[in-house]
Amino acid sequence: KKPPARKGSMADVSSSLLEQIERFEEIFTVKADKLKEVTEHFVGELNKGLSKKGGNIPMIPGWVMDFPTGKEQGDYLAIDLGGTNLRVVLVKLGGNRDFDTTQSKFKLPDHMRTGSSDALFSFIADSLQTFLVEEFPNGVSQALPLGFTFSYPASQDRINEGFLQRWTKGFDIEGVEGKDVVPMLQEQLKKRNIPIDVVALINDTTGTLVASMYTDSETRMGCIFGTGVNGAYFDVCGGIEKLQGRLGPDLDAETPMAINCEYGSFDNELVTLPRTKYDILIDKQSPRPGQQSFEKMTSGYYLGELLRLALIDLASQGLIFEGQDLSKLEKPYVMDTSYPARVEEDPFENLEDTFDIFKNELGIETTSGERKLIRRLCELIGTRASRMSVCGIAAVCKKRGYKTAHVAADGSVFNMYPGFNERAGAGLRDIFDWEEKKNVSEYPIVIVAAEDGSGAGAAIIAALTQKRLAAGKS
Ligand code: BGC
Ligand code: MG
Repeated sequence: KKPPARKGSMADVSSSLLEQIERFEEIFTVKADKLKEVTEHFVGELNKGLSKKGGNIPMIPGWVMDFPTGKEQGDYLAIDLGGTNLRVVLVKLGGNRDFDTTQSKFKLPDHMRTGSSDALFSFIADSLQTFLVEEFPNGVSQALPLGFTFSYPASQDRINEGFLQRWTKGFDIEGVEGKDVVPMLQEQLKKRNIPIDVVALINDTTGTLVASMYTDSETRMGCIFGTGVNGAYFDVCGGIEKLQGRLGPDLDAETPMAINCEYGSFDNELVTLPRTKYDILIDKQSPRPGQQSFEKMTSGYYLGELLRLALIDLASQGLIFEGQDLSKLEKPYVMDTSYPARVEEDPFENLEDTFDIFKNELGIETTSGERKLIRRLCELIGTRASRMSVCGIAAVCKKRGYKTAHVAADGSVFNMYPGFNERAGAGLRDIFDWEEKKNVSEYPIVIVAAEDGSGAGAAIIAALTQKRLAAGKS
């Protein structure tokens, strides 16, 4: 989806608002040189993350050491604990680069983001039970293997564990950080006598990567542009300094290893990110200041909040929303990414949809000039996010020497934000100095919609794991 071209003249925008638009254009525009600089720094940080000493970017080995062949077969359960929903999926791998899925979505109650770990894992176990009763009314003859997609940074020494490093995306549940989440889930399953065996814990990016490789062998990365941002790719064990000492007969220098980069934490030391005062504010007011610096500028969890903070800033200076009740707008995170997305989709010359959104959902009557400013601001925030977020892709491709690649992408921003892929493609072109093409799909590195990552990916990885174990490999 392309955002409709900006329509209407700016003649009815007051000079003081035009001045503000110019200021926003200045602070939110990221030019080609900056993208190149960020990418260069990014490559170094990816390498640091693989070193013994480690760095800012975790670069977590995911213990997926086989490429899917497309011939994997069987029934698997998959769950995906995302920011908003828990998805439970039954995946039937067909063995011919094909699969079928049956799934249910369970909405995470709002309070759960900041509740107790018991409540969270009980909720997951209860949801699984509900699903099993529906899908297998006569019970199952043996425990079902499950792949657990856990979309947070989790350290792994083997595939069926995941020690949460820290919550991201506004999650803040006590008693989980530093612990292995697999036994927490297994314990709740056991309490309920649910016949499920958690065989693999997977990051959503790794799931996306593997699911897309199953159907498209050109896939080189799996990326999420959603509530959070992150990417995964395959390295080789010999290139992962921090695995030294772990190599052996099953794990030699050439063995592939999926890496969950966790590059949302890129540049936490703030060397190169072009942050605005709104980015600084978001960070300060978040439950984890100083963390996920790259994610806070690019992911869906924060785009609406950036817009809100910029608008509040102007309102507090008396520049917009004069005489309006701002009590709704003053609530942190009241605007999710659908706000800037819908404003950018507004096709009308005088931005009638935008008028309705602000009037009906926030109780604010906007003037035509204000709406034009809001529209421009959304374009700037959305464009910056898509251009910046490809620096992670460019860095991985540079590091691995990929001249061409399919980058499998998923996530709400990728799927819903108007113009994301065009803007992202233009960002890649700026970084690599490609000749301009009419369609971003003609560039050497293309971002393509992923196969259903969280379901199929987890199932395929569970299948690969079982095959490995059956072959007596570690
Ligand atoms: C998490 C990653 C995840 C990404 C996309 C980030 O906040 O740390 O593990 O892949 O969001 O869901
Ligand atoms: Mg997700």
